[in-house]
Amino acid sequence: MNPFWSELARGLSPYVPGEQPRIPDLVKLNTNENPFGPSPKALAAIREAADARLRLYPDPRATRLREVLAAYHGVAPEQVFLGNGSDEVLAHTFAALLRQPEPVRFPDVTYSFYPVYCRLLGIAHAEVPLDDAMRVRVDDYLGQPGPVILANPNAPTGIALPLGDIARLAEGRAESAVVIDEAYVDFGGETALPLLATHPNLLVVRTFSKSRALAGLRVGYAIGEAGLIEGLTRVKDSFNSYPLGRPAQAGAIASVEDEAYFQHGRAAVMGNRAALTEALERLGFEVLPSSANFVFARHPDRAGPALAQALRARGVLVRHFAAPRIADFLRITVGSEGEIGRLVEALAEILARND
Ligand SMILES: *Cc1c(COP(=O)(O)O)cnc(C)c1O
Repeated sequence: MNPFWSELARGLSPYVPGEQPRIPDLVKLNTNENPFGPSPKALAAIREAADARLRLYPDPRATRLREVLAAYHGVAPEQVFLGNGSDEVLAHTFAALLRQPEPVRFPDVTYSFYPVYCRLLGIAHAEVPLDDAMRVRVDDYLGQPGPVILANPNAPTGIALPLGDIARLAEGRAESAVVIDEAYVDFGGETALPLLATHPNLLVVRTFSKSRALAGLRVGYAIGEAGLIEGLTRVKDSFNSYPLGRPAQAGAIASVEDEAYFQHGRAAVMGNRAALTEALERLGFEVLPSSANFVFARHPDRAGPALAQALRARGVLVRHFAAPRIADFLRITVGSEGEIGRLVEALAEILARND
């Protein structure tokens, strides 16, 4: 510990992002990046925005992008909040909505950034165990007071809840904020957006990083009733007024406007997911039913850390979490056909050896 650190800095336990190593010819299936890349129109818009206007601060409210997203989702621009990646949107959400006298509840197995935000912001939280099939049981959230945040589809399990469950949750917890993190919803989940009109306590968080293949641009957003959004804006304007640069705003707009590319890309990921699942099952893996751009899988005879390590030695990176209940699982991003081929080949070789 450096002696100049504040007490706050000393007490943190930061999120550990998946590694971004510079190893040539690596098959990188550890951070749920999209193998098909962003819309060429988005890339052109980003280039076009990178000119002398970078001298100026960008629009602090990303007005145009908010209008485009509002039209796309059929809501009002006042219902859209933008941030520097949905991680930042989530951080502001914890500060603005989830910091309450009662603890915020989320699953014991979910996006591991949630407890990190709680530590940073001094928020009490309660982890609610998934059931034996690694599913969220909405009834477990209905008894107690306090806000709730769920990733739907959940991460790292990939399992999605039906809209009826989210409706029951929003209704059953009507006096608290209910936040649904839909980072992966475009890969087969059901969005909670239709519930917004009747549930002023509901906030839906989205990202451009996964289905729009723009993780490097850092654009995320939230949609909810205008009053909720105003709360988020209060926190944002107490932290960083200009979270999105001009190129990011321009690229995000062009991405939303390229619907054909988006639809094609998400279908391709879902197709590759089916192929990956089938190949893993043929190798003896148990694969949880995924509605995301990754699968969560374990082998009955092999420990998770050993598998992850053996893959790494063969130039294939997957994500492993050393947490209770999931230590034997690997989270494998749905890559390109070539990447899936390299993964499956490496796994077959590892499993054929008896070490
Ligand atoms: C990837 C991810 C995010 C964050 O994505 P950003 O790149 O910060 O927009 C948020 N929630 C979940 C569950 C994720 O997996």
